[in-house]
Amino acid sequence: LASFSSGTNRPVYGKVGRVPVGIGRRRMRVVVTGGAGFVGSHLVDKLIARGDEVIVLDNFFTGRKDNLVHLFGNLMFELIRHDVVEPILLEVDQIYHLACPASPVHYKYNPVKTIKTNVMGTLNMLGLAKRVGARFLLTSTSEVYGDPLQHPQKETYWGNVNPIGERSCYDEGKRTAETLAMDYHRGAGVEVRIARIFNTYGPRMCLDDGRVVSNFVAQAIRKLPMTVYGDGKQTRSFQYVSDLVDGLVALMDGEHIGPFNLGNPGEFTMLELSEVVKETIDPSATIEFRPNTADDPHMRKPDISKAKELLNWEPKISLREGLPLMVGDFRQRILNEDEGKGA
Ligand code: NAD
Ligand code: UDP
Ligand code: UDP
Repeated sequence: LASFSSGTNRPVYGKVGRVPVGIGRRRMRVVVTGGAGFVGSHLVDKLIARGDEVIVLDNFFTGRKDNLVHLFGNLMFELIRHDVVEPILLEVDQIYHLACPASPVHYKYNPVKTIKTNVMGTLNMLGLAKRVGARFLLTSTSEVYGDPLQHPQKETYWGNVNPIGERSCYDEGKRTAETLAMDYHRGAGVEVRIARIFNTYGPRMCLDDGRVVSNFVAQAIRKLPMTVYGDGKQTRSFQYVSDLVDGLVALMDGEHIGPFNLGNPGEFTMLELSEVVKETIDPSATIEFRPNTADDPHMRKPDISKAKELLNWEPKISLREGLPLMVGDFRQRILNEDEGKGA
């Protein structure tokens, strides 16, 4: 039943999205790199639920087996401890390439490793896609726009990025990954898809990854002040994870290369975000100002008209609807952590 035939080396994608799932759609074998992470594990859940066979490659730098433990024992699922900086041979139809630390705290921890992951990791996955004729999707980032001089950001904007700053390992790394994807497409005919993801939140985010939503939610639950960096007037747009996953699958299965902005256009200052967290979790929550980090973009908001028109996709879940959906998971993990400490 598996769609990949080593005899022909040809994939069978293309039917997905046009034929209703379960009717006439052959099973895909799909690789998700970084599948043990926050976004990847939700994506894996969706692919498994629709009947795909999924292989996760992850080195567990920021990902956790806990995020996938509910799939252990499922014959359609495989988890391989693998660093994408190293080559690997697999026979697959589609490659979702997510492997890369995403939070500033994690990607600055070992910047050279972040660049190697973005460049050598992406090269290896494109080499794999080329060898087996698989379709390849890159999860790029809104950070390719840097500290944008255009607002909101459209895909045609080339960005305002510092090439020698602390964030460069990530944003220049992702820009190079986009370049590689386009060069494999133009030079070797690899079918590529590029998503530029804007700030995303939801259950399974690392508790202490330093991102603003996870910080504020964890701080409010722990009855600590929410740490607002700078004057708190910088803006971001926050997307709930299930909206992103729907967008990634629509992009992979559709006919357009991209790049596509995938984000929720609702724009909030960090002070406004702290108010929403306060309303959602604890009306007595307080804030505390801290110095901001270097090169912090002042504002960020996606223009998603291209994805709306060509992928028929737009986010459905507002910040006020989405935040409560992650609180139970955060409370449980914070409780487990506290009990672990007490033991
Ligand atoms: P995450 O840190 O939770 O997940 C990344 C996963 O990649 C982890 O499981 C980690 O262990 C794995 N990984 C890292 N380096 C690896 C390597 N060398 N080899 C194998 N595995 C490796 O982050 P996330 O939020 O789930 O992000 C997933 C992808 O989406 C990333 O590529 C990120 O750049 C992109 N993205 C995310 C956001 C967001 O707001 N979450 C925004 C823009 C882009
Ligand atoms: N690669 C891989 N798996 C494959 C095919 C290639 O990991 O199935 C790696 C390969 O080791 C190389 C990279 O992908 O480092 C780029 O491969 P490509 O064939 O495009 O380039 P070349 O090997 O000719 O440099
Ligand atoms: N931020 C904040 N308090 C925190 C963590 C982050 O005010 O505890 C701010 C940060 O300065 C930035 C915004 O929140 O302006 C988003 O930061 P995050 O690290 O979540 O994402 P990114 O900068 O990559 O968009």
